[in-house]
Amino acid sequence: MVKPKKHLGQHFLKDESISQEIVSSVNEIEAIGTVLEIGPGTGALTKYFATKKVNFLAFEVDKESIDFLSINYPSVKVLNQDVLGYDLSSFEFKPVAIVGNFPYNISSQILFKAIEYRYEVNQLVGMFQKEVAERVASPPGSKKYGILSVLIQAYFNVEYLFTVHEESFIPPPKVKSGVIRLLRNDVSKLDCDEKLFFKIVKATFNQRRKMIRNSIKTIVGKLESEHELFSKRPEQLSVQNFITLTNFTESIIKTSNSNQ
Ligand code: SAM
Repeated sequence: MVKPKKHLGQHFLKDESISQEIVSSVNEIEAIGTVLEIGPGTGALTKYFATKKVNFLAFEVDKESIDFLSINYPSVKVLNQDVLGYDLSSFEFKPVAIVGNFPYNISSQILFKAIEYRYEVNQLVGMFQKEVAERVASPPGSKKYGILSVLIQAYFNVEYLFTVHEESFIPPPKVKSGVIRLLRNDVSKLDCDEKLFFKIVKATFNQRRKMIRNSIKTIVGKLESEHELFSKRPEQLSVQNFITLTNFTESIIKTSNSNQ
């Protein structure tokens, strides 16, 4: 058996029915070009994916797990590579679906990777810490609604599927886990300057308790115009509100540049 390593976030899933449920939660698996598993470990999910007619590939950084997989599931393709540094647009077969019982220490980076490669990644199904899964799925108005909720929800439809108890893992983690499914929506590009949208979402939530007006000032400098969204706080704004705010902010920047 592989010895679980804490620094790699190794909590191996021992409950077979949960593994099967995660694998069967992948939507229209036969239409996916590449199913990419992050962190197969000892193969709790991998062994079920291996029975499917899909182009499957896994990324694992733990040499001991890779050796274990090559003995027990020799037909599975596993790359000994950190997925975070990998160019997901380089796959021959697209779209890409990201799946896994994800290492919790890199949860946010995995989600940001799905956003970065939103033209290639059309689905993500997997397990995060419950709190992270809830944050991604949170609607506006909730305390859990934040940067990741807005950026993910701008490009994906999110479903919180189910909660998993600590005792379903070896060793048990300290917190519960949550399985979510992200399905790419049909927005190819947001109806605004996307770079500015990202900047505004980050800037406003980094000053979460302040009114939007104050955070926008840090982006545009002097602020002479008014907008109804300025007197709100970021957690009250939907994705569409952030798009409106981005367009308004862009017009302020353009006016001030043309007056100089
Ligand atoms: N899928 C297995 C299961 O459900 O039992 C293992 C899940 S365990 C929570 C996370 C796995 O991700 C570990 O095997 C760990 O070695 C691997 N891992 C950690 N960081 C990684 C990275 N940057 N890239 C790829 N795999 C990584």
